[in-house]
Amino acid sequence: MATIKITLPEGQVEQVPKGTTPLEVLKKLNARLAEQAVVAKSNGELVDLDQPLERDSALAFLTPDDPDGMFVFRHSSAHLLAAAVLELFPDVKLGVGPPTDNGFFYEFFREQPFTPDDLAKIEKKMGELRDADIPNQRKFLPRAEAMRLYEQQKQTFKCELVTEKAEGDQVSFYVTGKFIDFCRGPHIPSTGRIKAFKILSVAGAYWKGVEGNPQMQRIYGTSFPSEAELADFLHRMEEAKRRDHRRLGPELDLFSIQEEAGPGLIFWHPKGGLVRTLMEDWLRKEYLRRGYQLVFTPHVLRQELWQTSGHLNWYKENMFPAMEVEKAPYQLKPMNCPGHILIYKDRRRSYRELPLRLAELGTVYRYERSGVVHGLLRVRGFTVDDAHIFCMPEQVEGEIQSCVEFALDALKTFGFERFEVELSVRDPAHPEHYAGQPADWDHAEGALLKALEHMRIPFKRMVGEAVFYGPKIDVKLVDAIGRPWQLSTVQFDFNLPERFDLHYTGADGAFHRPVMVHRALWGSVERFFGVLIEHYAGAFPVWLAPVQVTVLPVSEKVNDYAENVAGALRAAGFRVELDARSEKLQAKIRDAQLQKIPYMLVVGGKEAAAGTVSVRSRSRGDLGPQPLADFQAELARRVETRAVEA
Ligand SMILES: [Zn+2]
Ligand SMILES: [Zn+2]
Repeated sequence: MATIKITLPEGQVEQVPKGTTPLEVLKKLNARLAEQAVVAKSNGELVDLDQPLERDSALAFLTPDDPDGMFVFRHSSAHLLAAAVLELFPDVKLGVGPPTDNGFFYEFFREQPFTPDDLAKIEKKMGELRDADIPNQRKFLPRAEAMRLYEQQKQTFKCELVTEKAEGDQVSFYVTGKFIDFCRGPHIPSTGRIKAFKILSVAGAYWKGVEGNPQMQRIYGTSFPSEAELADFLHRMEEAKRRDHRRLGPELDLFSIQEEAGPGLIFWHPKGGLVRTLMEDWLRKEYLRRGYQLVFTPHVLRQELWQTSGHLNWYKENMFPAMEVEKAPYQLKPMNCPGHILIYKDRRRSYRELPLRLAELGTVYRYERSGVVHGLLRVRGFTVDDAHIFCMPEQVEGEIQSCVEFALDALKTFGFERFEVELSVRDPAHPEHYAGQPADWDHAEGALLKALEHMRIPFKRMVGEAVFYGPKIDVKLVDAIGRPWQLSTVQFDFNLPERFDLHYTGADGAFHRPVMVHRALWGSVERFFGVLIEHYAGAFPVWLAPVQVTVLPVSEKVNDYAENVAGALRAAGFRVELDARSEKLQAKIRDAQLQKIPYMLVVGGKEAAAGTVSVRSRSRGDLGPQPLADFQAELARRVETRAVEA
């Protein structure tokens, strides 16, 4: 009998009969892993665990812990969903059913909308099909037969897909019991491996995402290899919902987005505006302390400038269309770089002036399709905490290091502790994708690398992720519920100094080309504010809270004393509200709690007589009566130390 050679991940080699399946190999090796594996990798390609191996093969086995394994697991979950829907609603027409970041969906065409009751039935049916442990079997059909099958079943969308996507004469299908799907796979061996799943929602979507096409109903779900992992996911989803800045923004009166003004445009209300002012104050002070100079540049600039900068070539689709003024086209700025370059270029620069660090809280406008704008996170107008550093090549390493340190400070100050750092370098196989000389790139990548090593910051190297104009360092923060957010970026630029023909006079009296570094720490003030709201679930630390203290008189009789307390704290620089409504104390406390105000000071006759306040903390509850001076000292201490807890 013919044999083939199997090389296992640890380098072990086995001879097995030709036609042996990966699952058969695995069962002999590790029975437990054979239960958990969802797909195999043969010579780098994902294959079904029950696909016979015909050639020598380097073989690996993936569980859902591996991203590729999870992808297959969720794709098979989508098939399970479709199989269940088809049993209950045989007339639906099938669309596509891919895995997503957090689960999967399958889309269906059906006149009536799926009701919550339908979804419950579907979930139950999925459970039955799972428990029946039905095999997922691959099957090939000749093209004509495949079309005939789908025509008979009146699966018009599938006919369209086969016509467009099937390669070759043989069309690949997967069969799960009565359900058959045009699909390249791979899939898990049988439905029984989907230990835990849940249907999450249903939403409308145009077929192929094209407006005017038929409306499909997408049923979204998620699945995990264990109930515990599913429970953990659902808990995190609940938490994310509770923290959603799009809900908290209006509830806490922080910001709004107004249909009347247009999508993706942010209105900062007084309370959000106050937090923003505190953020910006901190930042401006740091800029000056760290040798940056503050500048302001116009919001509209001549179109020619965007031609020179290259934005019109590679960024046009993100720019608002041009407007004409006195027969000359102007454009809203999508970035601040050209403005800062014009300041640099306005006169001759000497090496003595370098590094020149120009900073601006620069508001930019980018065209995002109305379908993708999202709260504060993806908007059409936002303010970048932007800076451009013009320096000599030999200064770059030090500048990069300062930028990364500054970035970490800017995030840590606002209460974040966990970060993920990525170093994006070029893809050496494609030098044609990048501006600038290879030697400059070597130098730049080396400088970024050295800066990170010097600071002993662990990082991930991302090959091929560099921007065409230079390598970069990105910093993601990890929030209170473990979600990473991409914020800071420090980017090298060989391109713009060249395009704008920038110079400085060196110590040798000759002209030299400066290097430019673009850097933003929060990325955008709007986005960072959104992340802050979600991280704290709206309960800002005392130093950032728009209202730090609310004074709650128990009756009108003590309103005067309450005024005095509020006045004393205001005079000391704290942000204080007085709730003199004729509501019950409990109602006032509840409202203050909902507004996430760090401290409530309850005052009645006893407090007025003794010159005390009864302190209630938003997180620690009733702290009892205290002399006002003591409370004030404690408040000052918490503001000073930027304490997270009230
Ligand atoms: Zn599929
Ligand atoms: Zn820039």
